[in-house]
Amino acid sequence: MPSTVSRLPVKLTHVAKDRERASVFIGHFGVALAAKKAAPRTSLGTLVMAAQFVDLLWPVFLLLGVEQVRIAPGHTAVTPLDFISYPFSHSLLADIGWACLFAGIYKVVKGQSWGAFCLWLVVMSHWVLDALSHSPDLPLYPGSRTYIGLGLWNSRVATILVEGVIFVLGVLIYVSAARPRDRLGVYALWSFIGVLVGLYFANLFGPPPPSVKAIAYGGLGLWLFVWWAYWLDRHRQPPPQKP
Ligand SMILES: [Zn+2]
Repeated sequence: MPSTVSRLPVKLTHVAKDRERASVFIGHFGVALAAKKAAPRTSLGTLVMAAQFVDLLWPVFLLLGVEQVRIAPGHTAVTPLDFISYPFSHSLLADIGWACLFAGIYKVVKGQSWGAFCLWLVVMSHWVLDALSHSPDLPLYPGSRTYIGLGLWNSRVATILVEGVIFVLGVLIYVSAARPRDRLGVYALWSFIGVLVGLYFANLFGPPPPSVKAIAYGGLGLWLFVWWAYWLDRHRQPPPQKP
C-alpha cells in the first residue's frame, strides 16, 4: 500500500539514526593486554574491566542523570563529546576510590595481593591516559574547579600514533604472555582485536552519535568486551617455563 511504502524510508532513517555504538579507545585496552604479563594469574577479562572500569560506570551515571555530556561536533578532532560534568566517574579522587574498591574486592575474592596491586594500577591508568587525551575537563575531585587534560585529542594523527603504539605493544606483550591453548584461543583473540580496531576507526571517522541516550547504551555495550576477554583468556595459557 502506498502509505506503508511512503512511511518506510522514514522508519529506516529512524533506525539508522538511533544506532548505538560504544566509544572504544584502544589505548585502555592496550594497557589491559600488557598487564597480563605482570599479572599472569589474572584473567584478561578482569584486566579489561579494570582498565575500562570508569568508562563502564559512566553510562550508568549518564542514564541516572548525575553526569552530563553534550554532543558538539568539532569539540576535539577525535571525539564530538563534550564532557560537561563527570565527577563521580572521572575525577582523580573518584578514580582513586574506584581503584581501591576494585583492587579490594579482587583481594577478598581471589586472595592475591600482587594481582590486586596490578589491578589498582590498571584502574588508575585510565585516568592517566584520559588526562593525556581529553581537553581540560577532568576534575581533581567532585566539586573541584581545577580541570586536567593535555588535549592529545586535538590531533587525530597524534592520537592514532600514541594509542596505536600502546595498543600494538599491548597485543605483542599479551601474545607472548598467554599462548593459545586451542584454536579458539587464536580466533577469539584476533577477532576481539579486529572488532576493537574497527570500532575505534568507526568512531574516529564516522558521524557523531545521535543522542546522549545512544551514547549511554553504546557505552553499556563495552561490557560485552569484558565478557569476550574472559572467554578468550580461558583459551590461552602462560608459555611453558624454561628449565
Ligand atoms: Zn574515560
